[in-house]
Amino acid sequence: MRYNTIRKMDISNGPGVRVSIFMQGCPFHCKNCFNQETWDFSGGKEFTEETIDKVLNLCDKNEIKGLSILGGEPMAPGNIEGTTKLAKEFKEKYPNKNLWAWSGFKYEDLKNKDVLKYVDVLVDGTYKDELHDPTLKWKGSSNQRVIDVQKSMENQEICLLK
Ligand code: SF4
Repeated sequence: MRYNTIRKMDISNGPGVRVSIFMQGCPFHCKNCFNQETWDFSGGKEFTEETIDKVLNLCDKNEIKGLSILGGEPMAPGNIEGTTKLAKEFKEKYPNKNLWAWSGFKYEDLKNKDVLKYVDVLVDGTYKDELHDPTLKWKGSSNQRVIDVQKSMENQEICLLK
């Protein structure tokens, strides 16, 4: 598995100042994707234990409110294991910081995967250029949903973030 970029201080992907990691490789190839350099599964850099340690250390600062995992496609079959490991270790180390993830897969496709145990908010669905709306918060097109994952699991129905 590979990743593209780590941002040490990101204020555009989730609330507050965050660390973000963009995983490498995406099978969806949405028209006018904002991040086409992440499509190639063999691009970017190797994702290792050291990568996880680096991300976790960056999250340690008081001003960092949480971690955002984006792509590329973090939940692609070749990426989900590493994404799950990072998500688990992040939540174990920082139970009071939040974890946001973006995926082209839908909540319904992911709800039985371990990774969602550790995700607070999932922005789901592929980007649809014909539904693009620059006024939307945290998402690019109106088909995507900003889901409160833990509440959705508890209630066994999709609960959007309020
Ligand atoms: S799912 Fe995201 S990264 Fe993948 S092609 Fe669509 S917009 Fe780009």
